[in-house]
Amino acid sequence: MELTNKIKKIEDLIKEDSEDALIYAVLECRMAIEIVSKKKIDFYCKRYNTKLLNKHWQPNKAIKLLKQIEPQADQSYELMISREGQDTEEKNWISLGKHESLSLKSTTDYFHKLGSYLHYRNDTDLNKLKKLLNSALSDLTRVNQSTLMSDLALTIAFECKKCSTPIHYNEEGTKNIHEFVCPNPSCEAVYKKKPGGDGTQLIIDNVMFTCQQCEQKEYINSSKVDIGYIFTCSSCKAQHEVIEKQWMYGLCNL
Ligand SMILES: [Zn+2]
Ligand SMILES: [Zn+2]
Repeated sequence: MELTNKIKKIEDLIKEDSEDALIYAVLECRMAIEIVSKKKIDFYCKRYNTKLLNKHWQPNKAIKLLKQIEPQADQSYELMISREGQDTEEKNWISLGKHESLSLKSTTDYFHKLGSYLHYRNDTDLNKLKKLLNSALSDLTRVNQSTLMSDLALTIAFECKKCSTPIHYNEEGTKNIHEFVCPNPSCEAVYKKKPGGDGTQLIIDNVMFTCQQCEQKEYINSSKVDIGYIFTCSSCKAQHEVIEKQWMYGLCNL
């Protein structure tokens, strides 16, 4: 609905055909692209940590990051089903719906090109601007006709060792990332990828401390731990301060 309203506004402003109206249409167009990107980010946030995807407010940067972990996320597609057991050619395929997307390239191009009109200039080529607005408008209208958003990717699932939240990752996307973050905002445990002999291992990148008062085990992200770092026991609320670093070592070639 939000996007439909924006599209209507952009159409009306283009029809007005004055320089002021066209520049205003640029603003509305950039906001519409933000709405499209935000919707996509919100969809994938169910799988990933909200902070991981939302820290980039610019749509082109957010979609670029999303594409690294979900390589197909900016593609358009149609979802079809058919009964099993028939020959491929004879199958009666039924469409469940279409997803229309703005590619990463279009998102980036539109965002930058439109943005260049939001600064003062006295040589604005209105015909060129109208052409750009009409092209963005037709893409936004296409995206607005999407009837579904789905994700049929192969996923890797494991349970967070710290808080037991299920963590799901796109198998194809994991080739590009080296760190997994628990999606539970009050946990955010970090897992590092470590290639091993029989496949990839995920190692929790946390340091374990035992509460000196009640012996509760606390896991703290290792990037936060340093001398002077204060943490609170989640069970008895006793505060502890890190006062010394200790290196552990073992024999190689055992
Ligand atoms: Zn967790
Ligand atoms: Zn305690």
